[in-house]
Amino acid sequence: MNPLLSLSGVDAGYDGVPVVYDLDLTVGEGEVVALLGSNGAGKTTTLLTISGLLPRLGGELTVLGAGVSDGRHRTERRTLDLARRGLAHVPEDRALFFELTAGENLRLGAQRGDDEAVETALESFPRLHELSHRNAGLLSGGEQQMLALARALAGRPRLLLIDEMSLGLAPIVVEQLLPTVRAIADDTGAGVLLVEQQVPAALAIADRVYVLRRGRVAIEGNASDLRRRRDLLEASYLGDIDEDK
Ligand code: ATP
Repeated sequence: MNPLLSLSGVDAGYDGVPVVYDLDLTVGEGEVVALLGSNGAGKTTTLLTISGLLPRLGGELTVLGAGVSDGRHRTERRTLDLARRGLAHVPEDRALFFELTAGENLRLGAQRGDDEAVETALESFPRLHELSHRNAGLLSGGEQQMLALARALAGRPRLLLIDEMSLGLAPIVVEQLLPTVRAIADDTGAGVLLVEQQVPAALAIADRVYVLRRGRVAIEGNASDLRRRRDLLEASYLGDIDEDK
């Protein structure tokens, strides 16, 4: 089966200068793939390039069965095309409309009239039921993150990019939210590419893992293997990998 997302030799960066080099990465149906790495490794840049918000600088990028146009096309067109195909991106800052209620934010994520998708999203995050009339700007960090995920889910995504959902959240909140991400992949068959700094929590729900270091893949493998080889993971963060290990 073809992957939902495929990057082959992708270079990504800003103003023509790469910060991510020669990246090969795939995400399959129902798969949760964690993209890890220390600050500045290139994780956010990778997600922005996949969702068309940055032009890729080289290589091949296939999202949901179709190639993604490069920098010759306007960003808005690339991003809109990808959203129509079923790509959802939950950015680091969650991109909520603070002056709108939680319910209004949620409905903005769904196709017009798709109340069933809104209800399904609420089933994944039942706490949002009681918050639906409150302005998004008044929600706690954890509640805002639930809302951002639920809004993405309301669009019935086939591929979900999640950028550091743990940012500013207590570890306990992250431990509660991540299993829901796993359940979304299991229940809907969506593929998930998850950027995360809380490594043990990400490893607990991921199928496969890529660790970026200075824009290049330092290690990749099954999450179950890396859960047993924490030493290898730590070395990849520190740039101290022995290739024979
Ligand atoms: P973090 O975990 O800290 O969010 P990251 O792995 O997501 O880090 P990126 O944000 O992708 O890393 O940054 C990769 C590199 O690109 C860094 O060296 C960063 O300084 C650089 N960078 C990020 N945004 C820009 C920009 N708008 N213009 C130029 N360089 C940028």
